[in-house]
Amino acid sequence: MKDKAMTILFIGLIVVAAAAVACKSDESAALARAEVEKAAAAVAANPDNPFFQPYGTPFSVPPFDRIKNEHFLPAIEEGIRREQAEVDAIVADAKKPTFENTIAALDHTGIFLSDVNAVFGALQGAHTNKDLQALARQTAPLMAAHRDNIGLNEKLFARVKAVYDQRAKLGLDREGMFLLENTYKDFVRGGALLDAAQKARFRELNQELSLLSVKFGENVLGETNAFQLVIEAKADLVGLPPSVVALGAETAKQAGLEGKWLFTIQVPSMTPFLTYSERRPLRETIHRAYFMKGDNDNERDNKEIARKIADLRLQRAKLLGYASHAAFVLEQNMAKTPEKVDAFLKQLWEPTLVKAREEASALQALIDRTGGTFKLASWDWWLYTEKLRAEKYALDDSALRPYFKLDNVRDGIFALCDKLYGLKFIEKPDLPRYHPEVQVFEVREADGRHVGVLYMDFHPRPSKRSGAWSGAFRRAYYEKGERVPPVSTITCNFTRPTADAPSLLSTDEVATFFHEFGHSLATLFSQARYRSRTVARDSVELPSQIMEHWAFEPELLAVYAKHYRTGELIPAELVEKLEKSSLFNQGFVTAEYLAACILDMAWHTAPNPAEVETRAFENKVMADIGLIPEIVPRYRSTYFSHIFNGGYSAGYYAYIWSEVLDCDAYEAFKEKGIFDRATAESFRKNVLEPFGTEEPMAQYVRFRGAEPKIDGLLRNRGLEVKK
Ligand SMILES: [Zn+2]
Repeated sequence: MKDKAMTILFIGLIVVAAAAVACKSDESAALARAEVEKAAAAVAANPDNPFFQPYGTPFSVPPFDRIKNEHFLPAIEEGIRREQAEVDAIVADAKKPTFENTIAALDHTGIFLSDVNAVFGALQGAHTNKDLQALARQTAPLMAAHRDNIGLNEKLFARVKAVYDQRAKLGLDREGMFLLENTYKDFVRGGALLDAAQKARFRELNQELSLLSVKFGENVLGETNAFQLVIEAKADLVGLPPSVVALGAETAKQAGLEGKWLFTIQVPSMTPFLTYSERRPLRETIHRAYFMKGDNDNERDNKEIARKIADLRLQRAKLLGYASHAAFVLEQNMAKTPEKVDAFLKQLWEPTLVKAREEASALQALIDRTGGTFKLASWDWWLYTEKLRAEKYALDDSALRPYFKLDNVRDGIFALCDKLYGLKFIEKPDLPRYHPEVQVFEVREADGRHVGVLYMDFHPRPSKRSGAWSGAFRRAYYEKGERVPPVSTITCNFTRPTADAPSLLSTDEVATFFHEFGHSLATLFSQARYRSRTVARDSVELPSQIMEHWAFEPELLAVYAKHYRTGELIPAELVEKLEKSSLFNQGFVTAEYLAACILDMAWHTAPNPAEVETRAFENKVMADIGLIPEIVPRYRSTYFSHIFNGGYSAGYYAYIWSEVLDCDAYEAFKEKGIFDRATAESFRKNVLEPFGTEEPMAQYVRFRGAEPKIDGLLRNRGLEVKK
């Protein structure tokens, strides 16, 4: 089998080479011939490495059963070499630069490398180990150098610029023009206009940043795994409902501590503990461990790294002629400038703080009323909020969870996608996966056509970073007029099943599931012609957040919210209570989120991050906005992976910016009926299918007929803003 696959690959390469010989100059023909030989030699030297062969799996999903850790490095090195060779071929072309031979050709380079990196990156997040971590440290600077080698290639940029300069005369359609403009901009933003000395410095900065970011992520994971709250005495379980006790017992068992109870600072373990434990010192211990991650002056401390990343980013931005990293980032976003983001956040912060203060006093009153003799602290917030919620709405989390069995919620989302878009989901238990818990589904149109494949990985593990995200093993694009279908992923950290109950989700987890599914729909529906996407960071949460609006709609709950034991539908009175309590605790939720947004903007607009001390810097930013001490920002600097180890730097505000869009967009569904097929089709055609291939506002207006208004967001959060 393997040999045959190799032969086919060889023939393919020879055909490509022959075509190249026929149409190119001697120089490029020689290059093409040499490349065929090198690629063939690499394939021959790696006979067992699945990245060097066509995957040979159904839908060409990654062959996880054959991928070993040692396959990554040679494949990444070969991918880098091949992409460089593809770029060299574009540069060596004797023909005058055109859109096809330069811009479209460049878009089509690096497929081998991006296939390997998609798998490597996914495993780093969802299922890492010491070897993969070491590999990431080794490959991050290789990748940074490789990107710079392309971004700073002067001959390549000259060709791109030549095409860009005639753009008005090329008769390009919308998607082609968007690709051309962004390709040119990417070069400029990647340092193409710098002089030689500046370019050298630019490379150094990218090298350092790539390593610091990997280290930051490793430290956060290490800190998360380092903490254990082990409970040995039953008396210390006071307040915890049986399901949470069972969860603690199950976690202990998995950690080899059978007979005890273990709680960790993974969110699905910590939050239930904070919500119910009556042992105040234990609540303090666990919450402190959570918000002190990376700030413990040990070998995993991130204070210095955070400060350094902010400083290096500022230096890089200045080199490119921007006043700050935020100014550099935001130019690409809908918001455009840091001033606009700051003003937007400020407009929301003031009414939010008022609400949060009211909530804090209500909690303090409850503490006083029930015989507590202490001042409300951050580790009390969940417990007393839960008590107040039970008092005001007669609603508690453990009464709701039985109606949100993971599989039922999943089937509810499938049903929603069927109602809106006619999608069908077919489980594929035989497809290879990287962990036995992963579920794989083929997605089909109503008429049976293949849309793509979806991998879902639900529960926390020590090998998985915290949070929830959606990604792809392959994004859709067109190859000679044929659509290459996508393979999307959803990775979460949801409550695990226990010995006596399946995985029962909290309402937050239900919303998160809908959210990540929305990202995956954008990946699955994509009709992008080219491989490159340019998505404004602050529009990226539109497809995801709009899905959250459906999660608790009574009409949809009636489809999926069935009791896990009796199969009984969620009672109408519970649905009503859920609706009535939807604005409860919104001051807290919004305040902890906005505080993190403001912290992100502060780091990336600070004039002198090199001179600050991380903890003091953060404290000052929080004091300046008057954050109350009972609330900790959702992410403190030392574990703010979104901005120091992910793609959200100067972009964490994107969630609430996108919320203006998703609230306004959902109004369209409410006007026509929440399952209206025509509205859904229009959303799919105008927003999801072309996502990342044109300016987001233009797409939005085509769907909605007008730009969005902020009113929907304010209503959604129960905020009143003075106008
Ligand atoms: Zn999201």
